[in-house]
Parts: sequence; C-alpha cells; structure tokens
Amino acid sequence: MTHRKYGIALVGVVALGVLILGLFAGWWAAKELELKNDQVRVSRSTGLEQGAKVSKQFWGNVCDNQVSTAFAPLDGDIAGQATSAVDQTGKHSQCSVIITNKKKFKRKVLCAIKVHEDGHLAGKGHSDDPNNIMYFKITDKNIPAGCFDPSKKGG
Ligand SMILES: [Zn+2]
Repeated sequence: MTHRKYGIALVGVVALGVLILGLFAGWWAAKELELKNDQVRVSRSTGLEQGAKVSKQFWGNVCDNQVSTAFAPLDGDIAGQATSAVDQTGKHSQCSVIITNKKKFKRKVLCAIKVHEDGHLAGKGHSDDPNNIMYFKITDKNIPAGCFDPSKKGG
C-alpha cells in the first residue's frame, strides 16, 4: 500500500506534504468559517456540487463515490490537494480532496479544482496541455464547459 499526494499550484509551485493533524485542525477551522458566513458557504457548495457533477462526466465514479471534500488552509500557493491510499491493483481508497480556504475562488474555478483533484483520485497525472483539466493549474483555458454557470456571464 503506497500513499500518493498531489497538489495543484496557483502560480506553478507544487509542494507536497501536509501533516494529518494540520488537516484536521484546518478542517475544523474551515467549518467554523463557513458557519459564520452564509454567502461563502452557499457559493462554495454550489461550485463543489457542480464540480462533482462534471467530475462524474469526466471520470465516472471516483473512489466508489466516497470522496470527502473539505476546505482547509494549504501550504503556499496550493489551491487543492487530493490524498488517497492506493493498493497493488491500483485501486484508490480513503480518498479526500482539500481545497484551500486562503483564497476566495469563483464558482467556476472551484468547480474546476474539484474536477482536477478528482482526476488524480481516478488515477490521472498531470497533462502538459494547458487546455486539459489535468494541466497543473486552472486557467481560463482548461475550465470545463460544464463548470460555467449558464445564468451568469463568464460563469
Ligand atoms: Zn494536480
């Protein structure tokens, strides 16, 4: 059983390694923040819900639909991070996606981060193609069409 971690960078710096304790502390801090700010909570949940839908279109059922997704502070400029345990057959379990709460993302970007991180949990590595959702960062070029809100200009 090997553990794999992937990060996605905002400005091209990919760093790895977040202590489990830090994650839990961050998760509770994130929950606290969400409860205090309804607006943030709503916009976050719609972005993530949309991301989960688009992710399913891209990758099918990731980790048997058992991916825990939460907001927590991540190191440096990392926007999102996927963590899982991988067995000898390549099956991923104990899957989690952490999205940083250091920055407020637009709904479409949040959606794209979720799709990207789920891609790692589906076994995908990074792509060199800036138009690909698995490119190491999210730009206007690789946000999936399904992540744009049709009721808003520019998503
Ligand atoms: Zn990545």
